[in-house]
Amino acid sequence: LVRVVDVHKSFGSLEVLKGVSLDVRKGEVICIIGPSGSGKSTLIRCINALVPIDSGTIRVEGQEVNDPKLDKLALRRKVGMVFQQYNLFPHRTALQNVMMAPVHVLKQNRKEVEERARALLAKVRLQGKENAYPGQLSGGQQQRVAIARSLAMKPDVMLFDEVTAALDPETVKEVLVTIRELAEEGMTCILVTHEMGFAREVADHIYFTDKGLIVEHGPPAEFFANPKDERTKAFLGQVL
Ligand code: ATP
Ligand code: MG
Repeated sequence: LVRVVDVHKSFGSLEVLKGVSLDVRKGEVICIIGPSGSGKSTLIRCINALVPIDSGTIRVEGQEVNDPKLDKLALRRKVGMVFQQYNLFPHRTALQNVMMAPVHVLKQNRKEVEERARALLAKVRLQGKENAYPGQLSGGQQQRVAIARSLAMKPDVMLFDEVTAALDPETVKEVLVTIRELAEEGMTCILVTHEMGFAREVADHIYFTDKGLIVEHGPPAEFFANPKDERTKAFLGQVL
């Protein structure tokens, strides 16, 4: 579903991705872990064309993301993204936030969108909060609104960039439960996360990045029990 081949990316003289490749099949959950500054966010931003790449290829459902003729809007319908900062519209309710893109961007029927938006909010366990404004919700609840908002576009793959990093431990769990349920339903997910327990439990495959390279990857059982590269060992030694 997503194929990244030998991608390079520099910001000025700083080479942030130095030939990164990965493959994600439909229904798979992959986790990208690694030290700060290793290029994780840059990599997933390249996948939905928020960041243009210098060389290599990225394909989503066979479609080349860096093709200048690419319809970026169409790509971003297929590729949902949730960030650490949820960026909800503060003057819109939870329900309105979820409805906004389908109604205004896709021009879908408001009534149908509303029905779907309510179902999505229920799915992320926010029934009863439809009319709450972001400021009236906890961080974890806001993040779940952001996930519902992304799902409202019916994406084929979801990108999550450290979506729990700004949350307190109590609410981290709620958000992880939501993501796990999505994964169990077969949503293809690419997650950047520092939640090693979650990665071990939910991921089909772990990629470890360091200084713009994928140093090591493998199924979680093997990856965590028997890391081979010294950098992976050092990193896991610090975080586990
Ligand atoms: P973290 O775990 O802290 O989120 P990361 O692995 O996500 O780190 P990136 O955000 O991908 O790392 O950043 C990798 C490097 O690229 C950093 O040195 C960062 O300063 C640099 N960088 C990222 N985006 C830009 C940009 N738009 N312009 C210039 N430099 C950038
Ligand atoms: Mg990052």
